[in-house]
Amino acid sequence: MSDQEGLMEKLVSLCKRRGFVYQGSEIYGGLAGTWDYGPMGVELKNNIKNIWWKMFVQGRDDMYGVDAAILMHPKVWEASGHVSGFSDPLVECAKCKKRFRADHLENKEKCPECAGKLGEARQFNMMFKTNIGAMEDDSSVSYLRPETAGGIFVNFKNVVDSFHPKLPFGIGQIGKAFRNEIAPRDFIFRVRELEQMEVEYFVRPSEWEGKFEEWRNGVHAFNEAVGIPKSAVHELEVGDGDRAHYSKRTIDFEFDFPFGRKELYGLAYRTDFDLSAHMKGSGKDISYFDEETKERLTPHVIEPSFGVDRTFLAVLASAYAEDLQNGEVRTYLKFKPSVAPVKAAVFPLLKNKPELVNKAREIYAELKKDIPQIMWDDNGNVGKRYRRQDEIGTPFCITVDFDTLGETPEMRDTVTVRDRDSGEQERVAITDLSSYLQTRIKV
Ligand code: ATP
Repeated sequence: MSDQEGLMEKLVSLCKRRGFVYQGSEIYGGLAGTWDYGPMGVELKNNIKNIWWKMFVQGRDDMYGVDAAILMHPKVWEASGHVSGFSDPLVECAKCKKRFRADHLENKEKCPECAGKLGEARQFNMMFKTNIGAMEDDSSVSYLRPETAGGIFVNFKNVVDSFHPKLPFGIGQIGKAFRNEIAPRDFIFRVRELEQMEVEYFVRPSEWEGKFEEWRNGVHAFNEAVGIPKSAVHELEVGDGDRAHYSKRTIDFEFDFPFGRKELYGLAYRTDFDLSAHMKGSGKDISYFDEETKERLTPHVIEPSFGVDRTFLAVLASAYAEDLQNGEVRTYLKFKPSVAPVKAAVFPLLKNKPELVNKAREIYAELKKDIPQIMWDDNGNVGKRYRRQDEIGTPFCITVDFDTLGETPEMRDTVTVRDRDSGEQERVAITDLSSYLQTRIKV
């Protein structure tokens, strides 16, 4: 097993052991392509989404947020081209009946599992179909959205009418999307129920190049904010033959995942394809009147598209570290404090000394008011607690000891704060603790 394959196994096992990610419907044997985020995972995921939302929606005057329905009118997906074209080539093995994505196979003739003969490739539509209402006929067919972008385009005119934004401006959305992937794989990298963070940024046709560059820089700024190192991210200019016909430029941002260099995000200039298609499909005029040029136009769009699950995996893989402490291998997640699921843990030095426990409980309760992502831990000895907190990436551990109670008078009402990465300890006054932590967990 290579180091990188070994890393993937370690990540999956740490995720289960420490409550980041569990297999979907695990007690029923699992459901392929689905994963459940546990108590630590949901915090990490929310931190990632909040950083994105703050950076790209709340932090900007030219951005608007929406949260559209997952079920949409089926004509949305006809207009966008998903009903006819959102498909992958599927091949089936004549012998073992397993199915594969033809474009992921090196040998298109031979089954990679049993060496049997593979059949002809056919197009397989990846949208999940469902029926709306009591009738199960063609008139009730709908789909779970395969991307969040659709919900943005159908609300373009609503946002324009409510807020009268000036071009250029954008609409952002975070939400679930569903794709019936032929071969879900690589943990949360390729799943059937996923979450996306997408922006549709509307521009005048003449200004697309400059805005494309701005969003390209935005992608790198976001990676930096969540702790994905630039050295592990590679831009792939998608060539003329491989781009969608309406896209004039696409960059795939690839990340060095433990299983290889694979797509993390996409950035595409989609011209006026989407708004024009929805104008045609709905029969409604959703064009835009530009007050500045006194012209009516269909804005062009730049789309940065981020996968939440892939970001989560990239953040996790980037944070995973091992070192030697006191002659033992220590595993820790060196998360940026801003993404860490737990910002600090509070311990009484000994759990059977009520005076220590009471003081620690008091400090914990006070801190939790300012910093909700804080944890109480009194299991095992302090060394064991450090190991446990290191494994979930808690940047600070606070120990309440006899000096806190005044055994050494000049240390009364101070606590030990231990830094996750260096292991160094500092004595901090209880009254300064909240601001000490707050300045350090913002980054
Ligand atoms: P791929 O080529 O890997 O299938 P894609 O090019 O189809 O991806 P897009 O349609 O561009 O992906 O979707 C935008 C983003 O959504 C991707 O960059 C990725 O982060 C995320 N994403 C897409 N499909 C999945 C999936 N099945 N599981 C997890 N994330 C996904």
